Amino acid sequence: MQDYFERCGKINFMKRGGLITLTASGLYCKQGDFYIDPWKPVKKAILSHAHADHAYRGNIRYLVTKSGEQLARIRLDPEAKIATLDYGKTTTIDGVKVSFHPAGHILGSSQVRVEYKGEVWVASGDYKLTPDATCAPFESIKCHNFITEATFGLPIYRWPPTEQIFDEINRWWRRNIEKGKASVLFAYALGKAQRVMSGLDRNLGRVFTHGAVERLTQAYREAGVDLPETTYAGSVTNKKEFAGAMIIAPPSAQASTWLRRFGTQSTAFASGWMMVRGARRQRAVDRGFVLSDHADWPELLTAIRATEAETVYVTHGFAPEVVRYLNETGMNAVPLKTQFVGDDASDLLDEESEPEAISAEPSGITEK
Ligand SMILES: [Zn+2]
Ligand SMILES: [Zn+2]
Repeated sequence: MQDYFERCGKINFMKRGGLITLTASGLYCKQGDFYIDPWKPVKKAILSHAHADHAYRGNIRYLVTKSGEQLARIRLDPEAKIATLDYGKTTTIDGVKVSFHPAGHILGSSQVRVEYKGEVWVASGDYKLTPDATCAPFESIKCHNFITEATFGLPIYRWPPTEQIFDEINRWWRRNIEKGKASVLFAYALGKAQRVMSGLDRNLGRVFTHGAVERLTQAYREAGVDLPETTYAGSVTNKKEFAGAMIIAPPSAQASTWLRRFGTQSTAFASGWMMVRGARRQRAVDRGFVLSDHADWPELLTAIRATEAETVYVTHGFAPEVVRYLNETGMNAVPLKTQFVGDDASDLLDEESEPEAISAEPSGITEK
């Protein structure tokens, strides 16, 4: 990610002596001796959510939200010591007040609020402001220091209304039914797959899942999220059942022989990256649906401004571009390189912050 440094021009590290600092293991609170989403094993890890690039294994103790507990248990070591805290409730760790607040990203996703002697920090993790039937809505929190993501931090990224995208998906499904085709929709297994399901027209037909999707979907149901009935595709013996059905699978299933069982099929991919020129062709799918679990450009600015933070730390994706924009509009913002993306890219494939996609050029820029 040398390119990242070049785009930043300079990297300003966090103020020395601040409540949260950046260390080789991740965001660290010295007073409470805990880390937020650490990427190296530590004693006390507070997790914003269960995506692989935030929930690394090997820590001794974890603190997660109550609603994200099952997902964390699926993702972490089976014997991991996981404590939970409800949204809005406060726990005190060596005098430091810690609380979780909904981030609206996936089930159980949270912003981590940390307070010590009147100094308030919020680490947002990943978030979006768009309503999502599968998780609690984003909550805005005032703070002195706000750590924000910038996965889609360019003005070109503006998501169409979710209802419109769900309509497109259902229309595509209906047309495939008419042609006797199965609809194979690729979506990240944790979060996106369940969100797609929540928008499906339940009268159209049956929904089948890949094993990776089914297990996580079950955890969503156990947490009380209303989703259509699904059947694990591997349990089906009569392949005729797949004609006209919807199949939800992770992107990794695309290049596998697993797809053959579905017979004549149309394929699609649901991701914010489908806004990028050429992304659908690059993915070699018939359709691309623009559906993201991250904030788009207007949402990022709305969320950042609402915090009234004195300093904004920006990580992920287009951090240098967001920092430049915030500085130009009179805000104190600095880029923060919170993780060594690229060291193990395969870890990141269950969400949208794919390194390969980040380097792709958005269509609006190439058109200028
Ligand atoms: Zn995430
Ligand atoms: Zn992430």
